[in-house]
Amino acid sequence: MHELTLCRQLCETLEAWAKSSSVVKIRQINLRIGCLTCVEPDALEFCFEAVAHSPLLQGAKLAIERAPAQAHCRNCGNNYTVTNWMDFCPQCESELRDLSETEELIIKSVQTDGP
Ligand SMILES: [Zn+2]
Repeated sequence: MHELTLCRQLCETLEAWAKSSSVVKIRQINLRIGCLTCVEPDALEFCFEAVAHSPLLQGAKLAIERAPAQAHCRNCGNNYTVTNWMDFCPQCESELRDLSETEELIIKSVQTDGP
């Protein structure tokens, strides 16, 4: 499952970060996921609970935000926001577009217990 791989990477990243920052407990992880990725927030939370068993991460909550992608219409030059694959140009309804690269998953911020 794709989400499981992402969660394992997320945990590894957080463990490494916590070690270098002397953080011992993470309460909440604020994530941003690109709207056009195939990552399901529910599945991500489920997988996170399944893999986050270390003292650092156990019980931590995921706060997931979906980030829209930006598109540039190749037909009329309009710039618009895309939240799913079926969002075509609102001006000319063309489906010819260049999509900005959206990151699959970004750690926006992390809430920790005080030092
Ligand atoms: Zn257009």
